Amino acid sequence: MAMESIYNKSLKDLEDYFINKNEKKYKATQLFEWLYQKRITSFDEITNIKKSIIDELKEDFTLEKLALVKVEKDVDVNKYLFELADKAHVESVLMMHTYGKSLCISSQVGCNMGCKFCESGRLKKVRNLTPSEMILQIMMIEKEIKDRISHVVIMGIGEPFDNYDNIVKFIEIINAPQGLQLGSRHITVSTCGIVPKILEFALLPYQVNLAISLHSASNDTRDQIMPINKVYNIEALMDAVKKYLSKTNRRVTFEYILLDGVNDSVNDANKLCDLVAGMNCYINLIPYNETNHLQFKRSKKDTILRFYDIIKKRNINVTIRREFGGKISAACGQLRSKKEDV
Ligand code: SAH
Repeated sequence: MAMESIYNKSLKDLEDYFINKNEKKYKATQLFEWLYQKRITSFDEITNIKKSIIDELKEDFTLEKLALVKVEKDVDVNKYLFELADKAHVESVLMMHTYGKSLCISSQVGCNMGCKFCESGRLKKVRNLTPSEMILQIMMIEKEIKDRISHVVIMGIGEPFDNYDNIVKFIEIINAPQGLQLGSRHITVSTCGIVPKILEFALLPYQVNLAISLHSASNDTRDQIMPINKVYNIEALMDAVKKYLSKTNRRVTFEYILLDGVNDSVNDANKLCDLVAGMNCYINLIPYNETNHLQFKRSKKDTILRFYDIIKKRNINVTIRREFGGKISAACGQLRSKKEDV
């Protein structure tokens, strides 16, 4: 068997591993506790599994680490840049909320979705992150801050539903009571709208939150800023979201970046309300983080408030996202692109 990061293995995978070796499957639970609760840095620290098995674990698996190459701090937000084994870079953003510490993790190196306003997508997808590389973003930052992270959002670099199997395994491991013990309601996956995966996601046994990057309720505009809309248009997307809602009964979040002169008119707001009226959802309005490379501008403050009021008056749940880290380039992909100067 080739050497693989042990953090890629779910509890079930490790149970199968031990059963194959004629060992009791509860060894997997013990191993999980060493990995995720005691946080060992060497297999030799394990005391309740016999030496011959430890030796086999060492032959089959690594305790992978990521290199933390940069940390930037601002009020209530830290940004971390990691270097992976193949020298690629990804970033994570830690936000200190009143309700806990929330970590925004990356799911791919680069991204193929090509959203016009997004810094991450300027680097095309190089590869998917493994479950291990996503888990280690959490574990390494917890070690760094000497505290637990209470919420995880998969909203950093990458399109999680373009890395579906690894995302599901990642969720399985971080959600496990013997794993990182992150409650499923404290985990959010955000997608630009890959319809078949939304439908698959609805069938999962986890109560994980789903956020949809909508950004426009009109196909003309959405086609221009989000190429995925040419594959799955707004009707197809909303149809999938409705199916998701009827399967899961869990409230969906629609993210809506306000871009000056692009999607922030009164008409845009009304169209958005018409689109989501009556759905179990809430709308998260996002003031755009401007970047040097892209021409989009953030909507004026008054325009943002006008947009918010229109939605509020229609009795639709809406918030304006609290801003973190403007000073430290917290907009997706900015730290990586500064580092690599592309
Ligand atoms: N690919 C996934 C998750 C990563 S992007 C998705 O599209 O949802 C996470 C969120 O940040 C998305 O809503 C995305 O549209 C938004 N985003 C991207 N660039 C941004 C910027 N410069 N300012 C504010 N939000 C941005």
